[in-house]
Amino acid sequence: MYDSNNVFAKIIRGEIPSKKVYEDDKVLAFYDVAPAAPTHVLVIPKGEYGDYIDFISKASPQDVLHYFTTIKEIARILGFSGNEGFRICSNIGAKAGQTVFHFHTHILGGAQFGEVV
Ligand code: 5GP
Repeated sequence: MYDSNNVFAKIIRGEIPSKKVYEDDKVLAFYDVAPAAPTHVLVIPKGEYGDYIDFISKASPQDVLHYFTTIKEIARILGFSGNEGFRICSNIGAKAGQTVFHFHTHILGGAQFGEVV
């Protein structure tokens, strides 16, 4: 069950401030408040989806395509084009480390990364 009082829902509504990188009518991207890399941005759909499974199951194909295409554009805005590598990931469920239950993709960059876990 989606909780419309989660912090990302509040960020979408402007009730909590965020440092925005990108925004359109469907997608918002902002810097993570506790960065795990020199560049750490969160990309969220504005719709109410608790996690990736919820999003991919319920969102329209157009919205799914727009979301993932927009991640590419946001990475470009952040300077991650060409040979500058970066990581995208999404935690699904508390066991995987998800702490905010509004679907989001982490964009991490600016460092040399090792194994995923
Ligand atoms: P998760 O652990 O669910 O995959 O990722 C949630 C992320 O949201 C964490 O990296 C955490 O630092 C970030 N976060 C939590 N609360 C806030 C907030 O109020 N503002 C911003 N910008 N990021 C937040």
